[in-house]
Formats: sequence, C-alpha cells, structure tokens
Amino acid sequence: MDYYSNKISQLIQQLSRLPGIGTKTAQRLAFHIISMPEEQVRQLADSLTEAKANICYCRSCQTLTDQELCPICSNPKRNQGQIMVVENPRDLAAYEKTGKFEGVYHVLHGAISPMLGIGPGDIRLKELMQRLQGEVDEVIIATNSSLEGETTAMYIAKLIKPTGIKVTRIASGVPVGGDLEYIDEVTLLRALEGRTAL
Ligand code: ZN
Repeated sequence: MDYYSNKISQLIQQLSRLPGIGTKTAQRLAFHIISMPEEQVRQLADSLTEAKANICYCRSCQTLTDQELCPICSNPKRNQGQIMVVENPRDLAAYEKTGKFEGVYHVLHGAISPMLGIGPGDIRLKELMQRLQGEVDEVIIATNSSLEGETTAMYIAKLIKPTGIKVTRIASGVPVGGDLEYIDEVTLLRALEGRTAL
C-alpha cells in the first residue's frame, strides 16, 4: 500500500483488522472517513473510546452493559426463574427483538470447541452455575445448532442435571450452523415454543 500516504495506510490497516473487513472495504471506509466532516469523525472516535472504557459485563447475565446490572436483569417484570443461555450478546438481541421472552438470559461469550481449543473454562459457565444456586425453575439452552453449539448444550445439560433444575433445548428448525442473529423472529419463536426437555 505504498501508493497511499503513511497516515492513510495506517487507517486502512487499522480498519482491516476488524472482523469481516477486507482490504477493499477498509480502503472504502478509510476514504469515506477522510471525507466526513471533522465533527462527525470526532464523534465516531469518541464513541469508540467511550464504549471501550465504559462497557462491562453484567454482574448477573454477563452480557455487555454500561451498568452493574443490565436493563433486562434489573427489570422487575422479567422472570428471574427462567434463564435462556445464549452464545453472545447478538443472540440475546435476536430473542429480545421478538418481544415474547419474559425470562432473563445468560451470555456464555462463546461455545465449547475442542478443535479451536476452547474448553468449558473459557466460556462463562462458572457464572451460570453460580446463578443456579438461587431460585431457578428452568434453563433454556439456546446455543446455535452448530457442532460447537450442540457440544455446549450437551455439556451444560449434563452439568445441570444433578441439580434437578429443568433443562430444555430450543427446537431445531434453526438451520444447522446458522447464527441465531440471522434467523427471523417467527422461526426463533417457534424454536422457543417447541423446546424440549434434555
Ligand atoms: Zn444482565
């Protein structure tokens, strides 16, 4: 990228480090940013640094939030006895968008993958088990239907079984390997309603 000035190359390089951003897209974004009004660029830069500085994990469900407890966990109308386990905050958002789930969530931030060397200790399972010491009626496992998601579901089910708490798995119908966030709301609701005991 010698044909660009040093500062532009740096910007392109930084942008291309983001997931899903190839060199071409990074170049397009870089030139777009340079053409933006200075005030807008500053706002963008500020939101990046502020998000990084102020966002933390919810004390209860482990999703990303800017408070100690996220808005869902601190909502008294939500049923704290029903916990839906998801892989990431995007999956949480997908279920929240349906507006039909009244329980709370637990975000694992990943899935078990022996191939990638991600074990049970690398996702937020310990935090889930701690939550189960409170009054919990049902744990709904809504990990993806990928190999990793299924492995994680089986592992969690086995872990919870001895506690006597009801464990269910969302119905298949969610395409194999499909990320929950790309699935439409009707399919998500059907998967939730058709959940089966593990
Ligand atoms: Zn929370």
